[in-house]
Amino acid sequence: KADTNHEAVVIGTGYGAAVAALRLGQRGIRTTMLEMGQLWDEPGPDGKIFCPMLNPDRRAMWFKDRTEAPLETLLGLPIVNRPIERYAGVLDKVHFAEMAVYLGRGVGGGSLVNGGMAVTPKREYFEEVLPDVDADEMYGKFFPLANKTLRVNTIRPAFLESTSWYQYARTARRQAANAGFGTQVIPNVYDFAHMEGEARGTKPKSALAGEVIYGNNHGKMSLDKTYLADALATGNVTIKTLHHVKRIQQHQDGYLLTVEQRDPFGKLLNTKKISCRHLFLGAGSLGTTELLLRARDNGDLPNLSDEIGRGWGPNGNVMTARTMIGGFQQSGMPVLAIDAWQDHEVFAEIAPVPAGVETLASLYLAITKNPERGTFHYDRGTDGITLDWRREQMKPSIRAVRGVFDEMNRTNLSTYRPDLFGIGKVFSDDFTYHPLGGCLLGRATDEYGRVRGHKNLYVTDGSLIGGSIGANPFVSITALAERNLSRITATDLNH
Ligand code: FAD
Repeated sequence: KADTNHEAVVIGTGYGAAVAALRLGQRGIRTTMLEMGQLWDEPGPDGKIFCPMLNPDRRAMWFKDRTEAPLETLLGLPIVNRPIERYAGVLDKVHFAEMAVYLGRGVGGGSLVNGGMAVTPKREYFEEVLPDVDADEMYGKFFPLANKTLRVNTIRPAFLESTSWYQYARTARRQAANAGFGTQVIPNVYDFAHMEGEARGTKPKSALAGEVIYGNNHGKMSLDKTYLADALATGNVTIKTLHHVKRIQQHQDGYLLTVEQRDPFGKLLNTKKISCRHLFLGAGSLGTTELLLRARDNGDLPNLSDEIGRGWGPNGNVMTARTMIGGFQQSGMPVLAIDAWQDHEVFAEIAPVPAGVETLASLYLAITKNPERGTFHYDRGTDGITLDWRREQMKPSIRAVRGVFDEMNRTNLSTYRPDLFGIGKVFSDDFTYHPLGGCLLGRATDEYGRVRGHKNLYVTDGSLIGGSIGANPFVSITALAERNLSRITATDLNH
């Protein structure tokens, strides 16, 4: 029997989903969020919620036999990753044929595992990517609102310039300047007052204990501390965890969901039917696109357009590293980026290698402008999705990255590190942290994320943005969701 009490359901608890829940809750609309991952608020036997970065355990990853950290090797040795028990851990790596995607799993989605870098994209590029969105309104209203609600803050200049924990960033900045490239200080959602306390020894260490991709035990203002806490405080929002939405069907003037509830070891506890009037998809680029493709191709939502699945891209992500003395103390939260967008179409975050030892490496996650796009397809045999994306589509990104880092190496007498991404590989171009697209705004949906072909069905996450945004994406995803929800709550849900 269907659980029919739901006025609005939001699938997922990442950025887009959290905005939807807060704004619906504030309007007095009873809203249920369904999240396949766990709520991360219970300490394990070691007293910590998340596992240590350098000694990971089952909490690290989503049902894997071994951790899959992006730096696979050190000095060519496979010493970074280790066997773990299969469990509903916090970081997932989803493998497609020629591209892999890292994702956060749990209440807060990607905010639990990401580097917290809160970048408002360059207006000119935003206008190029989303020409039909009013940029005045975005930059005047919704970007400031997103930054404020996410509790974005900026490192104190005196701390950045003096602390040993950012020596790696300062050295990389100087070397970038030697090569003629500018850098920028990047705001973050990590609480820098807490970080200064960590450095003084008065606050428990998290960023300064190298924590990031397997979760931060302190300091990080992830969505469970901001948008989702505010949403719950309205009294109208509830979150159901370890609830995986598998199927969406049309049901009267709303939707019927088939949802699998599991325990953290993967055992199926219950298969539920939940019906609702308004359905918001915030399951991320992969999750949302998969649900809609399955519904279209199985005939559950037959009016969905051919646009579903199209326009995907990895935000031009390429990871690379050079030789450099970085210091053995490195904060896990990046605060500087090389901005070579104008001449080279590269914006590269200066990333830490928080190994606790001197690795003689300077690491970068480069975001590049790459016009190539991929397409998702539903595969009836596996009941999953495939991604039509070929390795060679990263060629424009590699060319751009070379334009910056060949010059960095030439002027600073450094070399690429061939021992971090598998032996001999200097550019890691086969994974992304920034999956974008699959249900593009203005194509698969209308200009506000209303899915074309079916009423009361909305997309609110990174799948709206066509493959590239030229900066780390979560501020853009949040601000766009704010814009869309402000319209949708005023017009579609005004009662
Ligand atoms: P997500 O945050 O991915 O949320 C989707 C949620 O839906 C997840 O919780 C998922 O478990 C859930 N879900 C999926 N399918 C289902 C289903 N069928 N049923 C129920 N629940 C479901 N971006 C930045 O801007 N700055 C950074 O510094 C940064 N660093 C990053 C570092 C790492 C390691 C990673 C992985 C990402 C990083 N990102 C960063 C990217 C950023 O986190 C993502 O762009 C962002 O989280 C995407 O938001 P979203 O709302 O689209 O979906």
